[in-house]
Amino acid sequence: MPVVPHWIAGATTGGAGRRTGDVYDPATGEVTKRVAFAEPSDVDAAVAAAKAAAPGWRDTSLARRTQILFAFRELLNASRDELAAIITAEHGKVLSDAAGEIARGQEVVEFACGIPHLLKGGFSENASTKIDVYSIRQPLGVVGIISPFNFPAMVPMWFFPIAIATGNTVVLKPSEKDPSAANFIAGLWKRAGLPDGVFNVVHGDKVAVDGLLDHPDVKSISFVGSTPIARYVYERGTAAGKRVQALGGAKNHMLVLPDADLDLAADAAVNAGFGSAGERCMAISALVAVEPVADELIAKIKERVATLRTGDGRRGCDMGPLVTGQHRDKVRSYVDAGEEAGAELVIDGRGVQPDVQDGVEAADGFWLGPTLFDKVSTDMSIYTDEIFGPVLSVVRVASYEEGLHLINSNAYGNGTAIFTNDGGAARRFQNEVEVGMIGINVPVPVPVAYYSFGGWKNSLFGDSHAHGTEGVHFFTRGKVVTGRWLDPSHGGLNLGFPQNA
Ligand code: NAD
Repeated sequence: MPVVPHWIAGATTGGAGRRTGDVYDPATGEVTKRVAFAEPSDVDAAVAAAKAAAPGWRDTSLARRTQILFAFRELLNASRDELAAIITAEHGKVLSDAAGEIARGQEVVEFACGIPHLLKGGFSENASTKIDVYSIRQPLGVVGIISPFNFPAMVPMWFFPIAIATGNTVVLKPSEKDPSAANFIAGLWKRAGLPDGVFNVVHGDKVAVDGLLDHPDVKSISFVGSTPIARYVYERGTAAGKRVQALGGAKNHMLVLPDADLDLAADAAVNAGFGSAGERCMAISALVAVEPVADELIAKIKERVATLRTGDGRRGCDMGPLVTGQHRDKVRSYVDAGEEAGAELVIDGRGVQPDVQDGVEAADGFWLGPTLFDKVSTDMSIYTDEIFGPVLSVVRVASYEEGLHLINSNAYGNGTAIFTNDGGAARRFQNEVEVGMIGINVPVPVPVAYYSFGGWKNSLFGDSHAHGTEGVHFFTRGKVVTGRWLDPSHGGLNLGFPQNA
């Protein structure tokens, strides 16, 4: 059985640890490989490699850094199909979706290619008589990135292109469920000419995460994952004196007003509810229908779901399996709970017949078909909890105000969407809703790379969102220089506080 190794100082290494984790092909249910689990000494080795590479990399010219970023962008673009196949084989999402996440990650690489412009500081000539003041932004040093299973390429790429472009060195701890994309990306960096040690990967579990959180040479942590772990990472990382941005879970609502185009809204609900089997932090899981639209909207969703093919992501299906058997069982248990609580089960994905390759034993894949509940109330666990699977809950409300209140009462605040043809209502919603990312007739409003990605409330711990100018700010520290070149006016003793004149 192959073992996915760590990547430290430009080379693979099995590390000191004996522990490994299973990596599955979710469409067959088979363990296809194992992944090395780091021990603290492996984390130390990765951080030491990153620390050793830091002085040289931070002093590498912006021109050279940019050339390497452009080379990486070209290699990534040319390898998209190969990387998508690696992702699908371990995550299960369909190939087109895997290619889509790479494309969105690549946008951040392209944003980072403009780093010379983004790093320009300010300069004030003659701020005081014959004194100039200017600001510069410098890298932090070694930065840690900890990522979730659902976007093994895109989420790390929210961070490392900017971290590297701004002169930092990186230790990435990807999800142990789909670890191979990170190693593939490390190989692309090497081919692009990135010096060894600037980008390192350690695999593993809590031991690796805690190793990064506690390590005195790691200056910042960028985390994405579930809310309990995000809170833990934020608290432990900041207690150790680090800068931390920790993005957590979500429960995203889509508000459909009575004047909305219901065909557009039904398409959007299906795409955003069941795309990537609902394993997206920006998935829609609560469909808030302002009456009287619910019956018609549900009928349109049913029509569309009937045309969907769930199956092996390599076979052109619409929806793949869930990531592991354990996760599939957890999501199924929510469907059971919703039924028991009295919600109306309109579409039951538990008996889905998957489309798989001839001869493959379909029964062992981690399947669960699209599932739709109606008449969901806010005390049911299918409404209160992040399910992270293909389960969409319709909550019927009487007015815009009631829908808004529901969204603003939720503990999460990652993404939300409104569907309406009323510009005034949309404008009011964007102003009043307490959520970080808003879609207006757009169901999955993931910001483009030059804006920043991040939620509010329990969806983000810390002050900085990912990428965009907030990303540049997160990965750099400000410095202000006040300078005077000696001239005859300079001299004499004055013990008073410096004053400008
Ligand atoms: P997870 O929290 O289980 O794992 C995330 C990372 O933390 C992984 O690298 C994992 O190895 C590590 N980890 C897990 N348990 C740990 C522990 N006890 N101590 C220390 N580290 C630990 O999340 P997941 O299941 O991989 O990903 C799905 C979650 O991520 C969902 O909640 C989803 O909403 C969230 N997510 C959020 C965003 C966002 O932008 N807000 C984006 C993608 C995913």
